[in-house]
Amino acid sequence: MNYNSTRNAALQVTAAQAIAQGISEEGGLFVPQSFPKADLNDMLGLDYIGRAEYVLSRFLTDFTPEEIKACAGSAYGDGKFDDNTPAPVVSLDKHGENKHILELWHGPTCAFKDMALQILPHLLTRSLKKTADGKTAVILVATSGDTGKAALEGFKDVAGTEMIVFYPENGVSPMQKRQMNTQEGENVCVCAIHGNFDDAQTGVKKIFTDPALKAEFAQHNKMFSSANSINWGRLLPQIVYYFSAYLDLVNAKKIKMGDAINVVVPTGNFGNILASYYAKRMGLPVHKFICASNSNNVLTDFIRTGTYDKKRVFYTTISPSMDILVSSNLERLLYHLCGEDTEKLTGWMNALQSGGAYTVDAATADAVRALFYGGCCDDKETVEVIRNTFEKDGYLCDTHTAVAVGVYEQYLKETGDNTPAVIASTASPYKFPDSVLDAFDCEKPADPFAEAELLAKLSNTKIPAPITALRTKPVRFENTCAAADMADFVRETVRV
Ligand SMILES: *Cc1c(COP(=O)(O)O)cnc(C)c1O
Repeated sequence: MNYNSTRNAALQVTAAQAIAQGISEEGGLFVPQSFPKADLNDMLGLDYIGRAEYVLSRFLTDFTPEEIKACAGSAYGDGKFDDNTPAPVVSLDKHGENKHILELWHGPTCAFKDMALQILPHLLTRSLKKTADGKTAVILVATSGDTGKAALEGFKDVAGTEMIVFYPENGVSPMQKRQMNTQEGENVCVCAIHGNFDDAQTGVKKIFTDPALKAEFAQHNKMFSSANSINWGRLLPQIVYYFSAYLDLVNAKKIKMGDAINVVVPTGNFGNILASYYAKRMGLPVHKFICASNSNNVLTDFIRTGTYDKKRVFYTTISPSMDILVSSNLERLLYHLCGEDTEKLTGWMNALQSGGAYTVDAATADAVRALFYGGCCDDKETVEVIRNTFEKDGYLCDTHTAVAVGVYEQYLKETGDNTPAVIASTASPYKFPDSVLDAFDCEKPADPFAEAELLAKLSNTKIPAPITALRTKPVRFENTCAAADMADFVRETVRV
């Protein structure tokens, strides 16, 4: 199994190269040349680690079965996830609905990013050994909140790696900021930038694709790598939980083997929902992909019209991990749907960079619409959904998950399509206690930890242990810099 770049058909790399490099030199993303078929019956009796091994081994053909077993075991075993159950499904079907919440936040940082970032360091260090012997990987991360903490936690003190995380100064929740600024580990560093997430992401991409900087770091035996969701090593592990959710529903007799499901995903950079599309390409029977956005609804418009236009107001919302106007992984979907035409795709991506917009051809737009439904929820609707879901189903969801539930309700109303729906729940409500409390009629305390305690009392749910532990951890990082100075910050921090 080899990989091409979305922007260069002539390029062909192994999985290890794709993971070690993160992004292709000309700015394209690595995509698998084919999609191996999965046999659902073979996976039915396996636990999560076994299902992960099954999916990963089909794409990582340059890894030995022992290596894959070791990676999956260290990531998803050893008590890293609550009850050693990384991705439980909670059915909300008491009132005859057909919705099932796939909880992806039982890892060490309470967000779904752990599903990929607990395994990525194992995949990456092995990939580096195979491709870049002896080089230290300098991993740069742009985060809208959750990736940063999950990446720091995954990579802390991993030999052969150094990590710098950039986050938008005013674009993350107080709990998220605290999670990052108290991070332990001798090889990690955190910096707030003056700007939004897109500024951070653009800055990181610029560093990755600067040949002079690359040469400078190579002289010091260092190479850049990425833990963002553009890295194939992050996307691949996310395919697993869509299979796992389906098989759990079969085992629970909620669906029968072969039944179609719909998938609903609160979407930012388009990684999570793309993983579900890849699961379909491998044989998972998915009818519709429901792409849920907050007020930054560039994807909703794109799915409906075929025009991607980022020239619009950027909103800072209560679902900050989805405050994104350039959804990087959409490039991969378009590559597959436009007939793998790298020239056409490069044209669109260049138009986005230079003019802020592009329109895909009619055939590609139709292909997108046939598979995807796009919808959005503003902050007010999001809080209403949290309130209603708690009152009606007795289920407390975070702000991101609520956006998905809200858009699913719109979809149901609009289409009447009652296909069983798997809704990705991407964060613990305790990462955003201030916004979640707005769904309860109460006086809010000023301190986020007091808010978490109040939320626990009102909802009769438990505060996750990693959140409680934050309270007493010392702050280690207080760096800030301008978006334009990110390269200099990297130079100084890594000391080349
Ligand atoms: C990252 C994130 C998302 C968006 O996921 P993408 O893969 O970027 O689309 C949604 N919700 C939460 C809580 C996240 O951390």
